[in-house]
Amino acid sequence: MHSFSAGLALAITASLGTARPLPAQPASSSHDSTIVVLLGTGTPVPAPHTAGPSTAVIVGKRLFIFDAGAGVERQLSGAHLSNVDIEAVFFTHLHSDHTLGYPDLIFTSWVFGRRAPLKAYGPRGLRAMTDHLIAAFASDIDARIKGPEGAIKGGYLVRARDVSPGVIYDSAGVKVRAITVPHIPGQPAYAYRIDTPTRSVVISGDIGPTDVLIPWARGVDVLVHEVVKMSAIEGTMPGGKDAGYYMRTAHTPTNVLGSIAARAQPKLLVLSHIIPTGADEQEMIAAVRSGGFKGRIAFGHDLDRY
Ligand SMILES: [Zn+2]
Ligand SMILES: [Zn+2]
Repeated sequence: MHSFSAGLALAITASLGTARPLPAQPASSSHDSTIVVLLGTGTPVPAPHTAGPSTAVIVGKRLFIFDAGAGVERQLSGAHLSNVDIEAVFFTHLHSDHTLGYPDLIFTSWVFGRRAPLKAYGPRGLRAMTDHLIAAFASDIDARIKGPEGAIKGGYLVRARDVSPGVIYDSAGVKVRAITVPHIPGQPAYAYRIDTPTRSVVISGDIGPTDVLIPWARGVDVLVHEVVKMSAIEGTMPGGKDAGYYMRTAHTPTNVLGSIAARAQPKLLVLSHIIPTGADEQEMIAAVRSGGFKGRIAFGHDLDRY
């Protein structure tokens, strides 16, 4: 949720090409309508008003989740979305800030009635992580099934798949493509492009400076992209003398994002996974614009929808 003043700032700047999120409401029941909901716009910083990174794409009544940061199930409640009926979850990469909510998604959905295996897709290592999580919660699983709760046997199961780049999901008009992006040296990380009957969405995940997304994001309805404002974090980061280098190479500086967006021309650019936490909205947007993008930009807040 964002504060009144933040909402007011968005309203004031709407005429300058800054986008306002849609008002809070339950997901549309229209069969093909597609809505993007920011479940968490945060980073590893444990700030109380930004949940861990997670984005929902809702197509009619179908719920797809991209990354599962800390607090994801509570954020589903906050967005008036189902805690149980999740068609699939996709992970951009396995950094802890993007996966700490994965056991939440697995077990909370089960406790509240999930019967079918949760479908999970992500880069190499997701299956092993899933197996370890199920093993780690073995005593809880045992207690809930054998105890007075009588939890649904097998309802906690996950069908996890390590996927290669390309189209990894194609069902009833919803197509999801994984695109390799640079982020963790030696490990895969993906952005995702989602095409539905009515809209196209690209979610960058964590991504270093690169042109690789430009052809995939060209003209899309919504580009959800991470961003780091280097001038705002210098001298403030834990992690030693290489922390600045890491931030510049593993994440996308504001002016670089502006340049990418200027070439891709998304109809709406949504900033999420915003570094630093608590960044000034207008300064951040101006810094992105310095890269040359003149289109609509939204500074994402948890539970905003587009
Ligand atoms: Zn991250
Ligand atoms: Zn990361």
